[in-house]
Amino acid sequence: MSLEIIPIGGFSEIGRNCCAVKVDDEVVICDLGLMLDKYIEYTDDEDLTDISPKKLIEVGAAPDIWLLDELKKNVVGICISHGHLDHVGAIPYLANRLDADIHATPMTCEVIKNLTNRDRRPIRNAIIDHPVNCKFKLTSKISIEFIHVTHSIPHTVGIVVHSNYGSVLYMNDFKIDHTPMLGQKTNMKRLEALNGIKCIVMDSLYADHKEKTPSEKIAHDMLFDQLLNTETDGKAIVITTFSSHIARMKSIVQLGEKLGRKVIMMGRSIDKYLNAAEKANVISFKGKIKVLPYRSKVDAWLKKKHDLSKYIIVMTGGQGEPKAVLARTVASGLLRLQQEDIVVFSCKVIPVSVNIENRHKLEENLQKQHVRIFSDIHVSGHGAKEDHRDLLKLLQPEHIIPTHGGMAQLGELKDMAVHDLGYKPEKVHILYNGQRVRLA
Ligand SMILES: [Zn+2]
Repeated sequence: MSLEIIPIGGFSEIGRNCCAVKVDDEVVICDLGLMLDKYIEYTDDEDLTDISPKKLIEVGAAPDIWLLDELKKNVVGICISHGHLDHVGAIPYLANRLDADIHATPMTCEVIKNLTNRDRRPIRNAIIDHPVNCKFKLTSKISIEFIHVTHSIPHTVGIVVHSNYGSVLYMNDFKIDHTPMLGQKTNMKRLEALNGIKCIVMDSLYADHKEKTPSEKIAHDMLFDQLLNTETDGKAIVITTFSSHIARMKSIVQLGEKLGRKVIMMGRSIDKYLNAAEKANVISFKGKIKVLPYRSKVDAWLKKKHDLSKYIIVMTGGQGEPKAVLARTVASGLLRLQQEDIVVFSCKVIPVSVNIENRHKLEENLQKQHVRIFSDIHVSGHGAKEDHRDLLKLLQPEHIIPTHGGMAQLGELKDMAVHDLGYKPEKVHILYNGQRVRLA
């Protein structure tokens, strides 16, 4: 009899999330994500069709599933927590190597279909959708439970691997939000029922932030507060946010209604995520907005002399990415902004040097046009230290395995568990990829 955790990606690093749970000789994989900065560096952000999975692993852009080499035949299921690329992005490259079905919630399944069909990387694995709160039998030894959690993309779940040797909760990513602007709250009742669980593998990205992450309602209210209390008459409003943040998109659509402006969304990744959300019945923006996915359409629209003060224009590119719509059209002069037009960054800069540089350059270009910039109209989708404390007190897991963080974040989570919650240090495991832990 054995229950083991096999960390594959995202341990002592941020990105390419992937963790295996082994029950006797059967293996469940949770997430197959990309390390986005390394992926973009390797592909130069182009849609290449001849990317070699081996090379992606070598450059550290995809999880090293060779760590499972002798176990590859034993994979009985691939369970995906949510549709962010650092959790699903490696599926088109690696899932084919595993003879197992993919299990996910409806929105996540649509994102996966988009990645594999539309980007021309078909996979042979069946993609099976399940409700956001559900339990299903995977094999005679293993049942899987999905528990809905709030995050910055709809249909995110904690994945529970139930077995006779105890249950493991993989909760990566999450926040505890009691007033989400879209979809259900975190299912605290079901989490509470897991009290005394064998182990949690948990998102620790903001373990070093001494706060509780505010609700998405705060971001909604900030957006309304800032734009309803600013002179916007006759001014263009351009907003950028994360393409997958459907709740934020909903707030922007509501803001458009309030201001009597048409909402027009530009960029391929916005179109992909909106399509996935529409197909999964998460939202219905039909008739309320116009979407221009392709560069030719975006450029043609911007070349026409529209009165921009009649619109809210939503663009990809909050990190300042040179190939995204905002930076590209500002640099080329296609987006003709006037003095005191408004640009809203409804996002934070993800602090890696390339983003910081890109964003700095974009803001410099915007300032040349004397526009007004509203930054950080945003709250995170990741819980912080006080969310972690509440979750651990609710669950009281026997073992804690922090993930989705560098050494500093993993260490902070361990410190809190040991010093504040009374855990023995040997029950909180700080792991590198490949460093297995046997729990039973
Ligand atoms: Zn995420």
